[in-house]
Amino acid sequence: MGAACGPEMIVDPDAVRAAVLAARDQGRRVGFVPTMGALHAGHVSLVDRAAAECDDVVVSIFVNPTQFAPQEDFTRYPRTPDADRTALAGCRVRWLFAPRADDIYPPGWCTRISMDGPASRFEGEHRPGHFSGVATVVCRLFMAVPADRAYFGAKDWQQTLVVRRMIRDLGVPIGIVVCPTVREPDGLAMSSRNVYLAPADRRRATALWEALGIAARSWDAGHVPGAIERSMRGHLESRGIAVDYAAIVDAESLGPVEPAAPAVALVAGRVGGTRLIDNLQLPARSMRNE
Ligand code: AMP
Repeated sequence: MGAACGPEMIVDPDAVRAAVLAARDQGRRVGFVPTMGALHAGHVSLVDRAAAECDDVVVSIFVNPTQFAPQEDFTRYPRTPDADRTALAGCRVRWLFAPRADDIYPPGWCTRISMDGPASRFEGEHRPGHFSGVATVVCRLFMAVPADRAYFGAKDWQQTLVVRRMIRDLGVPIGIVVCPTVREPDGLAMSSRNVYLAPADRRRATALWEALGIAARSWDAGHVPGAIERSMRGHLESRGIAVDYAAIVDAESLGPVEPAAPAVALVAGRVGGTRLIDNLQLPARSMRNE
């Protein structure tokens, strides 16, 4: 299964569901990695983790229209099915689930999950409707792929909080595993959207990682969140990045930093025409300097 001949391709949600349930009936642990394709080493790290922890791995590739606003990049989002199959050929993946839009959103579809809480701020503010689309498609994918565990990247930290909240609220019986962000040698977080970057923008894009480094050092030095946010924003703007947000918040609630609790630095901005996001976990610290 997997490496020698590549994964079995399945389009039909009912077929993948039957395959996953049959495997679980045999006592096999099934791991699920949902993606939008244009696979890179970040995706592969999720697949490898799932393969290390599970008997069978399902990867889904579906560019989900409902998480893109009308003016966003849905139509030009990179679609590389052949390269994706090659990327997965070396991984231990049993099923590649690649549904069509009609399989996920049947004709007459009119049901959406709406969320507040972790979906309200940051990406939720700058991409209205985005997390409603994410929660809806992830829930739909979890119905089709009733795995033991699903693997998500810390790269999209707010998304992991949204998914965890959604499965708690709806009682979806699946475990969520969050895997570390995989980066280019210069620190830029790997992203399917990095292919949009012209060479000069690609060089400037490292400012996001630099801003997160500034945040980590200032956090360790005991600086208050507001001052760290100003430093991050100043650095990004000095590199010509149009900043959507540069924030230090509680890592779980995304509200104000709590004493002795882990925080997270979140950044988002446009580099040329490309919008990028990144984040870095900040360990709990005493608040005596604040
Ligand atoms: P996407 O195809 O962009 O929807 O991403 C699919 C999954 O891969 C999500 O859980 C992402 O958080 C995760 N992911 C994307 N980029 C990275 C990265 N650089 N490192 C780790 N995980 C990633």
